Amino acid sequence: MDKTKKSTKRLRTAKDLNRLVIDYYLECHEAKRRGTPVGWMPPMNGAIELFYAMDLQPVFPENWSPVCAAFGLTPGNFDVTDGLGYSRDLCGYLRNITGYVHGFMNDESIPLGGLPEPDILLSPGGGCVPVMKIFHILERRFPKAKVFSADLPQVAVEDIRKHHLDYAVWEMNRLIDFLTEVTGHRMDHDRLAEVVKLSDQACALWDEIMSYRRFIPTPLSAAEIGIMFVMVTRQGTQIAVDFLTAVRDEVKERAEAGIGVIDDERIRLFWDNIPLWYNMGLFNYFEKMGGVAVAETYSAAWSLRLDTEHPLEALAMKSLMSYPLVSCVSIRKRKEMVLKACREYSIDGAVLHRNKSCVPITLGQMDIKRALEEELGVPSVIIDADHMDDQNFSVAQFETRVDAFMEMLYEKKGLKL
Ligand code: SF4
Repeated sequence: MDKTKKSTKRLRTAKDLNRLVIDYYLECHEAKRRGTPVGWMPPMNGAIELFYAMDLQPVFPENWSPVCAAFGLTPGNFDVTDGLGYSRDLCGYLRNITGYVHGFMNDESIPLGGLPEPDILLSPGGGCVPVMKIFHILERRFPKAKVFSADLPQVAVEDIRKHHLDYAVWEMNRLIDFLTEVTGHRMDHDRLAEVVKLSDQACALWDEIMSYRRFIPTPLSAAEIGIMFVMVTRQGTQIAVDFLTAVRDEVKERAEAGIGVIDDERIRLFWDNIPLWYNMGLFNYFEKMGGVAVAETYSAAWSLRLDTEHPLEALAMKSLMSYPLVSCVSIRKRKEMVLKACREYSIDGAVLHRNKSCVPITLGQMDIKRALEEELGVPSVIIDADHMDDQNFSVAQFETRVDAFMEMLYEKKGLKL
């Protein structure tokens, strides 16, 4: 296996995704040219719906990092960040975006035209330390951008109470006031209600798509999880709903016809932690041994329904919950989520990516490993790697551990390799 590799895709709709990615970045640049204010923000919160409802352009520097990894831009960005004196131990998203904005940002050769400069920065007051630091760096790099310093309590999902929600609603209103003041765009609450409905439809479709992965054989593997692009960049738009409807139809058709990702699915795997964005082809590595990555931790981040009767409260709740789903979450809750997924998707073995770049999501993996074995009898293997930096990934180590793990799973199921 190569150190960097694209995944093999089986869905027809995967081709449409390439078009959607191009269109989104073209739209960002077109918005900038038209004079529509461009705001950079962290993903997975209710600000995206506010932006679309107010005819503002949302841009996600974190999402740009997987795009950089796919286009091979990451090593150059890392060199710039290293030169600025940042530690190589920091989160790869931070290292990539820091290098990008201080390096090749305005280079004409950047694929998709890169990112248009921000007029607004939504600087988070929570999530994880790297994501907050990314925005502190951006504030210094783009001193003319208007900065909204957001503040939300860091509460585990199960501990969210009414007073947390009230405060989050108050913050959403403060954000609307800020956006109105700095852009002159006003909030149309009927339009916001439509956007929230579309966002909720996208979430429902997402859940439905994921549910078809329970079929044996599964019609969709982690190799195609790039479809989450629309959940990051297009939530609250008809574009996301149309695309996910097409994916749902295709996945449903394949599931009901018994068409799997591979012809002979023998081992069903769970992937914990962020994928290796520079090597999504790694998911295909399991396939030569009849293994398919059927479910993963990351996709749960988008499994969140919105209360469409109360749009602002729905977005406030989304903002409180979204980050905690992947980072600020109790280990008990994370363990529960992984165990539940392993039960529901008939998992034979779990691959735990010990991600050098993301301590928050890696935390608690040993507890998860133990719980999988003791409560479900599901064996797991730890893979040392990094979701952004291929220097922290050894192909030889990966292959050795995975080959031995697959051999053990075959034996456990009484199969011959
Ligand atoms: S959650 Fe992990 S990957 Fe995301 S910004 Fe924080 S440290 Fe980086």
